[in-house]
Amino acid sequence: TNTSPVTVIGLGPMGATMAETFLKAGHPVTVWNRTASKADPLVAQGATLAATPAEALAANELIVISQTHYQAMYDSLGTATEALEGKVLVNLSSDTPEVLRAAGRWASEHGAELLTGGIMVPPPGIGQPGAFTFYSGPEALLERHGETLKALSDTTYMGDDPGLAMLFYQASLFMFWSATSSYMHALAMLGSAGIAPEAFLPYAAGLYSDLASDGPMGYLKILTREVSAGQYPGGDNSLRMQAVGADHLVEASRDAGVDTAYPKALRDLFWRTVEMGHGDGGVSSVLEAMKKPVA
Ligand code: NDP
Repeated sequence: TNTSPVTVIGLGPMGATMAETFLKAGHPVTVWNRTASKADPLVAQGATLAATPAEALAANELIVISQTHYQAMYDSLGTATEALEGKVLVNLSSDTPEVLRAAGRWASEHGAELLTGGIMVPPPGIGQPGAFTFYSGPEALLERHGETLKALSDTTYMGDDPGLAMLFYQASLFMFWSATSSYMHALAMLGSAGIAPEAFLPYAAGLYSDLASDGPMGYLKILTREVSAGQYPGGDNSLRMQAVGADHLVEASRDAGVDTAYPKALRDLFWRTVEMGHGDGGVSSVLEAMKKPVA
């Protein structure tokens, strides 16, 4: 078994669970957190608490970071940059692709290397089957430390550009957030007529599984084909017709006493796409409007 030592910086819900997961897998773990008391339960399980960020860096080559944002990394390690030489930073915090790219350059300037990651599970999923992380940056780092990192989740390497981990992470999160929020909107509308959430669940579940299917409603594959071909045929489902339907959704939401901001954003996107000349196209033509942002 692989028992390489690892340092974990950041002991929020994610970092603390990562440190615990490494410990349970038999890795010696050094931890550091701005608020030191959060290390107590981990020290009780055998972790070593570093007194300073410099000490945490000195302890091991592999440094796993999980904090609110990348600024927290600069705040934590910025005063210990001389200790960065030769270190492999694996930052699993959320931020923007541009911030990740800048962080890769910052690490290099200090003789360290950065592997960026977007971890696709909440704390209880860490170390569990099905958990995975999008990684990007120098592939050699993943080859070198992948076995240790696999204690947290499966590793999925996306490419050399350190921004890619976050692009894939945010692409996935946006789909997750919009799908779950639109489900809440649906339940609020139905609830206005006294319909219980359970009554809609089978239809919602059917809709999502159809989207991912190979059937006639298998829109993930249909839209992928259309975007790859650069053609957005509307056929009998023109975007103009769907924009009128989106108008009705906004009005129906208002009538139901439900906030209209979310459906309005959708309605506006549809009509802007129609006005760009895609009224006879399909729903995939909204991509053309998205690629020409107005704000
Ligand atoms: P938080 O995002 O709240 O991160 C808390 C950690 O960041 C603590 O260790 C905190 O230190 C530290 N921190 C924040 N600001 C600073 C700073 N300026 N200087 C030093 N340390 C700082 O909690 P999570 O653990 O939930 O998330 C960590 C990261 O993982 C985030 O980027 C999040 O987006 C991402 N993520 C979270 C998931 C989740 O379900 N929770 C799922 C997937 C990714 P202190 O204890 O001293 O406040």
